[in-house]
Amino acid sequence: MTSAPTPVVECRGLTKVYGQGDTAVHALRGVDLVVQPGELLMLVGPSGCGKTTLISIIASVLDGTEGVCRVLGHDILHMRERDKPAFRLQHLGFCFQAFNLNPCLSAAENVAVPLLIGGWRYGRALARSRELLDQVGLADKVDAMPEQLSGGQQQRVAIARAFAQEPDLIVCDEPTSALDSTTGEKVLGLIRDMTHSTHRSVIVVTHDARIFRFADRIVAMEDGRIVPLPPGTPGPTPAASHLTAVAAPS
Ligand code: ADP
Ligand code: MG
Repeated sequence: MTSAPTPVVECRGLTKVYGQGDTAVHALRGVDLVVQPGELLMLVGPSGCGKTTLISIIASVLDGTEGVCRVLGHDILHMRERDKPAFRLQHLGFCFQAFNLNPCLSAAENVAVPLLIGGWRYGRALARSRELLDQVGLADKVDAMPEQLSGGQQQRVAIARAFAQEPDLIVCDEPTSALDSTTGEKVLGLIRDMTHSTHRSVIVVTHDARIFRFADRIVAMEDGRIVPLPPGTPGPTPAASHLTAVAAPS
């Protein structure tokens, strides 16, 4: 009998309160969420429902208030501050709404940053960056500066950077919000291909219904809670069936 895989993310009764007293904002009101290895999970819901708060706690860049949040078996809520940077560097990749590329570095250098921080030698990091930019269709842009790239191209650089260290978990916050629909779909197709080919887990926060079909699973949030998907939500494509093997009881 094979045992179930250890979840990459496991949240139980997770809460987050910003501020206190009369001005307290209850951003998360008891979230239960499990993300499995190799899964592209989309977290959807209206603006202000707590999506960014939830992935920020999972990514260990924001403290939760109560409950449990385990990432790769590590208890994030009780992790020492000084242990978090190394944890993020080793296990996590980030791809945010504003692409956050360094304007003074070329595309290849931007992708190389997490590798260099992780101790890679410059030449080797640059070679790996070029390989990644090739995978995202930007082989001819390795030396371009961010300002010379379109929004879609910048976002592809950010994706290459997020996958550079082969992190176990990648969090993407509204990765298509600044893109037209064709480019947005290409970017999501790319995230999905990279997720499945490298068996990474990815959480994509979005309220862009045009990209829902790229998900393996969609989880909806409303007012700080996980809620059933609204009827008529477009579902994941059949490509997601590779996950049934993971989900099936053994
Ligand atoms: P979403 O990403 O779904 O739009 P957020 O997680 O950003 O939602 O926000 C959830 C709630 O928490 C909102 O009411 C928002 O105004 C509030 N919030 C977010 N960040 C802060 C903060 N730093 N201080 C106080 N309230 C915040
Ligand atoms: Mg947000």
